[in-house]
Amino acid sequence: MNILHISAECYPVAKVGGLADVVGALPKYQNNTEDSSAVIMPFYNNKFTQTHSFSSIYNASINLGQTIYDYDVLTLNNNTLGFELFFVDIKELLFTDYVYSSDDTDRFLAFQVAVMDWVLTLKSKPNILHCHDHHTGLIPFMAQESFKYKTLNAIPVITTIHNAQYQGWFKFDKLNLIPEFNGNNIGLLDWGNTINPLAAAIKCAWRVTTVSPTYMEELQSRANGLESLLASESSKCIGILNGIDTEVWNTETDEFLIKNYNKKALASGRKANKEWLCDEFNLDFNKPLIAFIGRLVGEKGADLLPEAFNLALQKNDLSILVLGSGFQETEKELNKLKDKFIGHYNAYIGYNEKLSHIVYAGADFLLMPSRVEPCGLNQMYSLRYGTIPIVRRIGGLKDTVSDIGDEGFGICHNNVTVEEIVYSISRAITLFDDKKEFEKIRQKIMSIDHSWNASALEYKKLYHSINQ
Ligand code: ADP
Repeated sequence: MNILHISAECYPVAKVGGLADVVGALPKYQNNTEDSSAVIMPFYNNKFTQTHSFSSIYNASINLGQTIYDYDVLTLNNNTLGFELFFVDIKELLFTDYVYSSDDTDRFLAFQVAVMDWVLTLKSKPNILHCHDHHTGLIPFMAQESFKYKTLNAIPVITTIHNAQYQGWFKFDKLNLIPEFNGNNIGLLDWGNTINPLAAAIKCAWRVTTVSPTYMEELQSRANGLESLLASESSKCIGILNGIDTEVWNTETDEFLIKNYNKKALASGRKANKEWLCDEFNLDFNKPLIAFIGRLVGEKGADLLPEAFNLALQKNDLSILVLGSGFQETEKELNKLKDKFIGHYNAYIGYNEKLSHIVYAGADFLLMPSRVEPCGLNQMYSLRYGTIPIVRRIGGLKDTVSDIGDEGFGICHNNVTVEEIVYSISRAITLFDDKKEFEKIRQKIMSIDHSWNASALEYKKLYHSINQ
């Protein structure tokens, strides 16, 4: 079976969040079976594209309303990613130094139309079109409704929702950008009197998946306006937990780490990484180091962090390190704490892949007080690296972390409040002081298997169920 993943992000080419990690890993695992899996994504102007070479395999133009854009489909030369990678190169629209911005409607519409036009020309068509998030949400609609793609409508289309908060809404005045279709079916695009690509995908895709079973349940009552749609389409919806790429996230080979380690040498390996972090960020090595990595947005509970950290740090019995960027107000508040708790608190405001790996390897605990967490990859990376997660029980966090009080291996709380975050942090300090128990849990979490093997099998079953 040939699977084509269509996505705005793919690690290591372009990463904003977990979407990239999933699209950069799942195809690799699918290629370990008898299936063949490839990815197509936009060709951005970034470090990866500047430092690799590509070949054009197809050249044509698309019409976006009245405007014609030339484009190439490129492949990556000397590809060692473990899956074939194609790019849509539309110089005038997609070759930007950002992945997302305010002009996304035109950029991603052009991307989707170019992908569909190209698929139309392929002699050997994919057996599955696997779309990811709203940036590819119009493909299920176009495959089903656009006259131009009529010959493609027997190919099963799957949509995976990585985050239902973002839906790609745009106004009906851009309707003419979508290839012509039967106007009687315009309602398929509509949700709340706007064109809603994610809603259209939920209506038109053959199956809808999301990235954890609990998030799928939650979506039926909380999906940023799409809950009733998801509830009514629940018979074709399924939650499949994300895995992690255990080749990239491997403590023995991770080139970003200060010192590599395995379970046997856990203590010395993690010590070296923690020492580096504490030197670099002027933190007290002897205290438990609690880290936060992620987008500084409401979804991640980041707005509560300044107050929670302010309270938790009063006794100076811990160290805290933040790595993230997002809302300016939260960034400012988090920066302010630096002067107040010198030697116990620091923040790196920005995106830094290398630093994130060292934090997973060197922090003692990773805090995830999320309001919404479709799956969450950070907790799985932290488990694999021996860092104990502190999480709110929500979405994928609920599916992957159980509390030490229930013979589990993490610290969990239920509500998005400063008090519960501070209480969880105090439990972490108590656990850190119980050296025997702390070591036992670190050993235990490094053995948990969160690789893609099991989840890739679930996707395989799903593909086969609709592609007889
Ligand atoms: P989301 O996709 O909602 O942001 P996920 O938990 O699914 O959250 O994935 C987040 C990914 O992005 C992880 O790989 C995490 O390590 C990475 N990440 C987030 N913020 C940063 C940052 N500031 N620097 C480095 N990596 C980051």
